[in-house]
Amino acid sequence: MTTQRKTIIAGNWKMNKTPKEARELASAVVESVKTKTDLPEIVLCPAFVALHDVLEVAKGTPVNVGAQHMDYRDEGAFTGEISPVMLTSMGVTHVIIGHSERRQFFGETNATVNLRLKAALKHKLIPIVCVGESLDEREEGLTDAVVRRQVAAALIDIDEESTKTLVFAYEPVWAIGTGKTCEAAEANRVCLLIRGVVNEFYSRAEGGHKGAKSTAGDHVPILYGGSVKASNVDEQLALPDIDGSLVGGASLNAGEFQSIIVAGAKRQTTMASKLTRSGT
Ligand code: PEP
Repeated sequence: MTTQRKTIIAGNWKMNKTPKEARELASAVVESVKTKTDLPEIVLCPAFVALHDVLEVAKGTPVNVGAQHMDYRDEGAFTGEISPVMLTSMGVTHVIIGHSERRQFFGETNATVNLRLKAALKHKLIPIVCVGESLDEREEGLTDAVVRRQVAAALIDIDEESTKTLVFAYEPVWAIGTGKTCEAAEANRVCLLIRGVVNEFYSRAEGGHKGAKSTAGDHVPILYGGSVKASNVDEQLALPDIDGSLVGGASLNAGEFQSIIVAGAKRQTTMASKLTRSGT
């Protein structure tokens, strides 16, 4: 059965662009999509200090704005942190959780990913939860075990209903910012694995579904991220289990990002027509 899942193209600008530069880049992205229809869900994730500018530019357009990270508490004595309440009060709709750079450099763990995911869902932010193996883990044949563990740990105490707003991104760490892309077929295989882990999680009694077989994972959009560019995105998005792209470096270039959005739009249209033909 073909399942309709939204196609999402998200740009993670990381620690790049001053507020003024972010405003210019966001304006170029908005300009490039303004006359287009059948767009995928587009999300720009600038640094915290540029959220205000990008939100102003994106207001009333098809472009959504996300944060790259957030604290899981609502408020308090946590110097330097930004809360989900602050983000939603500004108009931010999405948040990246557990990016590998947060895991690698800022002590993010599977347990804190789970706390952030719960907080995002509580505050109606759309979470984009990143999972993926390191180069050593891949070379030791641990990819599936690592990804399984990350996905299952993220879902602890999350009810099945909440998966309706959940997004995962498969981002092999060795492919991020390195120019090394994961083969499209392999990325698709791991995205399907993630879907399967979500289904298994909610099919088990402790997942809260009381032993019945769950299809929750079939409805969760799963993005691929890792050196996505205009030149490789078509091949990735032609595959059935890659529902979009989380784009780092290439999202800093409006022209490149526009081409990736066009590829997302093509995928969305193709999937919709497949659904119509299959009558589902
Ligand atoms: C990312 O930051 O999530 C990412 C995938 O980066 P890049 O596209 O630069 O590899």
